Amino acid sequence: MQVKEIPKNRVEAVDCLHFIDGNFVASDKKFSNINPATEEVLGTVEEGGKKEVDAAVQAARRALKGEWKTITTQERSKILRRIGDIITERVEELAVLEALDTGKPYEMAVEMDIKRAAYNFYFFADYLTSMGTEAYQQDQQALHYAIRRPVGVVGMINPWNLPLLLLTWKLAPCLAAGNTAVMKPAEWTPMTATVLAEICKEAGVPDGVVNLVHGFGVDSAGAAITEHPDVDAVTFTGETTTGTAIMKAAAPTLKKLSFELGGKNPNIIFADSDVDEVIETTLKSSFMNQGEVCLCGSRIYVEEGLYDEFLDRFIEATKQLKVGDPFETGTKVGSVVSKEHYEKVMSYIEIAKEEGGNILTGGNRPEHMEKGYYINPTIITGLTKDSRCIREEIFGPVVTVVPFKKEEEVIEQANDTHYGLGATIWTNDLRRAHRVAQQIEAGIIWVNTWYLRDLRTPFGGMKQSGIGREGGAHSFEFYSELSNVTIKM
Ligand code: NAD
Repeated sequence: MQVKEIPKNRVEAVDCLHFIDGNFVASDKKFSNINPATEEVLGTVEEGGKKEVDAAVQAARRALKGEWKTITTQERSKILRRIGDIITERVEELAVLEALDTGKPYEMAVEMDIKRAAYNFYFFADYLTSMGTEAYQQDQQALHYAIRRPVGVVGMINPWNLPLLLLTWKLAPCLAAGNTAVMKPAEWTPMTATVLAEICKEAGVPDGVVNLVHGFGVDSAGAAITEHPDVDAVTFTGETTTGTAIMKAAAPTLKKLSFELGGKNPNIIFADSDVDEVIETTLKSSFMNQGEVCLCGSRIYVEEGLYDEFLDRFIEATKQLKVGDPFETGTKVGSVVSKEHYEKVMSYIEIAKEEGGNILTGGNRPEHMEKGYYINPTIITGLTKDSRCIREEIFGPVVTVVPFKKEEEVIEQANDTHYGLGATIWTNDLRRAHRVAQQIEAGIIWVNTWYLRDLRTPFGGMKQSGIGREGGAHSFEFYSELSNVTIKM
């Protein structure tokens, strides 16, 4: 791997090569990797297509039959743990690369992205060694038991918002279950995936088990993975519309699919909740990672009795958030990921104005940042339920706030969407908390908290927010094939 100095931040950016069959390799074509916080070129990224994907898939197929097949559970668990250890040893370097690629605050990258990436490996290393299997005794007639084997070659297509965290959330269980992988990071955030390939090799993953091909989606590496006949399963995290395209591409070869897609998550605040906690957590659920987290609560509904107080305090707290250079201590909101995404988010702010919305704070660039794709955290009120900013995923530091009178009314509004990923409910009324949670159409529901995760729990979306669940046993459901064996007694 080639590295080069970025004197400004005194860190090394990575020129991103493919990693195929244990070697870093180049392509004929390359594209530039841009730092969204400075608009400077960080380095180059190889642009893979059918040829590189085919080489990676063939390497992954061969590796399925090699030493990876016979390695013991204990040995595989040890390798996963070693990957986690090396990520932990290199936490600062990886966090720098993640912040450079995404524009997110470095401090957040350390605490959330990279430490969690290591934990993904620790978690599945442990899980692997404690798993059992299903067995049923049918009277005195028969014994049935299930055996678990790998699915085969798994294609992994990843988004740019939490690049290493989400890639490792797939790779760790994929390896734990004995599969081989062809990974494609998002074109805007290729660096930490490239280092991860190196880390896997160092940790003792046999050549060909983990492969990485850089490139774009349509007519590029992404599409080549989803169309390849020797890819057995595709796990994809990204936009709902991309999920539709991937499903079509995977249909002719009937690949197993796992989809984690977009969201438009409601944050429902009842008047009896603890306002200090609500403000503190709602700041995070609105603007953490520049609002570029699939679980962010971008539609805030507040019960009328609390609406005015909530808005005053929420606006004041939002204005206090430090927006700017991702490498400055205390920065809470960095730049969004790219020029294209900046323009998309800003266009929604214009749409909100046209739809009669009131921009109570934000809606513009921070004055002190001359370069970079920065957007001040934005709070919008006055929109109707049919407005585009309430219906469509913006995926930036923009939230809408709407008052409500009754529980039934807010449940209806919360569910009035094609999406069904996450939801947050704030109330101190225990019965109401359960009652509302059971009626909200979302895969992940938090009460009086947000983003509190336990990796054993089912993670994923309903409706057009996803297919399948990840986490603990649920990940193993996707990454393994079960065969039932019946023995007549
Ligand atoms: P995206 O769909 O544009 O891209 C994701 C990946 O898919 C990229 O690697 C891209 O190159 C690839 N891709 C694009 N078109 C493709 C095609 N036709 N065939 C194969 N690959 C293709 O998504 P994004 O903009 O990178 O990420 C943001 C989206 O991801 C948001 O909608 C967000 O909600 C969603 N997301 C969901 C979760 C979740 O857990 N549900 C987590 C993070 C992000």
